[in-house]
Amino acid sequence: MDMLKTKLAVLVGCLSLGVAINASAAGFETVTLGSKGGIQDGNLTAFMLKSELDDNYVLLDAGSVVNGLIVSEQKGAFADVKVPEDSKYTKVGYLLKEKIKGYLISHAHLDHVAGMIISSPDDSHKPIYGLASTNEGLMNNYFNWSAWPNFGNEGNGFKLSKYTYTDLTQYQWQAVKGTTMQVMAMPLSHSGGESTAFLLKDTQGDVFAYFGDTGPDAVEKSDALNKVWSALTPFVKQGQLKGIVIEVSFTNETPDKALFGHLTPNWLMKELTVLESMAGKGSLKGLDVVVSHIKYSLKKGEDPQVVIKRQLDAANTLGVNFLFPAQGDALTF
Ligand SMILES: [Zn+2]
Repeated sequence: MDMLKTKLAVLVGCLSLGVAINASAAGFETVTLGSKGGIQDGNLTAFMLKSELDDNYVLLDAGSVVNGLIVSEQKGAFADVKVPEDSKYTKVGYLLKEKIKGYLISHAHLDHVAGMIISSPDDSHKPIYGLASTNEGLMNNYFNWSAWPNFGNEGNGFKLSKYTYTDLTQYQWQAVKGTTMQVMAMPLSHSGGESTAFLLKDTQGDVFAYFGDTGPDAVEKSDALNKVWSALTPFVKQGQLKGIVIEVSFTNETPDKALFGHLTPNWLMKELTVLESMAGKGSLKGLDVVVSHIKYSLKKGEDPQVVIKRQLDAANTLGVNFLFPAQGDALTF
């Protein structure tokens, strides 16, 4: 009897240890469907994101969708995804129609939505989440029967109602249907226009932050980023911020007046330093920061990504871990 009790105790101990290991290891996964901020059609800003506690994804911006899925599949990013035997779809089709449960759109600029628009005829029904200004931009400029048929459930003319516009209230959590995640939308200033940062939260309270295009507060004459850093601070303090995707569109050689609502390496470091000052010295050490939205260059000479990486590394007094995924690269956080 004592022997059995001991065995049971060991078994229970192992089980709870196993759960604890799993719990601490769970985070988020991204697949980069598009990594560039322009001008390469087929590789424009779009990241698939899912919680490791869930099989279903949301898309963070949708500059490139089907091409991104094709390249990602060829690179083996979806090796673990099994298409059910009775499905009539390819893996790319299955992922688009069944596994991507919604779009989170930061703003309605073409380089963030082109893939969604162009794949819409063969897409499945799903929500488009965004601030009201973003959803209005989509219905007024694209899904309007002039630029493209109206696949939305609002806007001009007959509504095909494939996509359900879902306005997010700033700084409030809302469920992402079909996934176990919640999302909070936080406005950003993008050359005077509105863009969005999305904070995704899993069932254990861990979060992942995705930033659409944004300029620095000092140049935009805004406090939008300051508010976002405040919102992230408690998660940093508790070790629950698992990673960030944020843009660095230009090198440090770009003057402030030519930023047009974007960041340079120096400005990103200045902004991250604001977050560190709120969360505590050394609090960002080891934080994964994905650098997005670097423009494809037509010029001979050094690739802007090489320059931007060098400039970020040189200024990285915070000890963050900068990542530069290419299209098709999968990452875990
Ligand atoms: Zn933009």
